[in-house]
Amino acid sequence: MGKVKQGSECSVDGCNEKAMRSFALTKVREALQSEGVVFQDERSRRAYLCQKHYKLFKKQTKKDKKIDKWRYST
Ligand SMILES: [Zn+2]
Repeated sequence: MGKVKQGSECSVDGCNEKAMRSFALTKVREALQSEGVVFQDERSRRAYLCQKHYKLFKKQTKKDKKIDKWRYST
C-alpha cells in the first residue's frame, strides 16, 4: 500500500484514470480477476488503481473475508 506519484495512471487495461493507490499486483489481480479485470503489465510488481478500481478492489477483498449479510438481506 502506498501513495502514488502524481501523473501515474491506473494499471488496469483500458483504464486511463489517474491512479490513487498502489498495491502488490498479485494481490490486486487475485481480487479482481473475478471481475474480468486485466492489467496492462502483468510482469509489473505494483498495480496502480484509480478510484473506481480501488473501490472494486476493496469490495472484492471485503467479500473474501466475510459475507456482508446486510447487503444480501435486502
Ligand atoms: Zn482504473
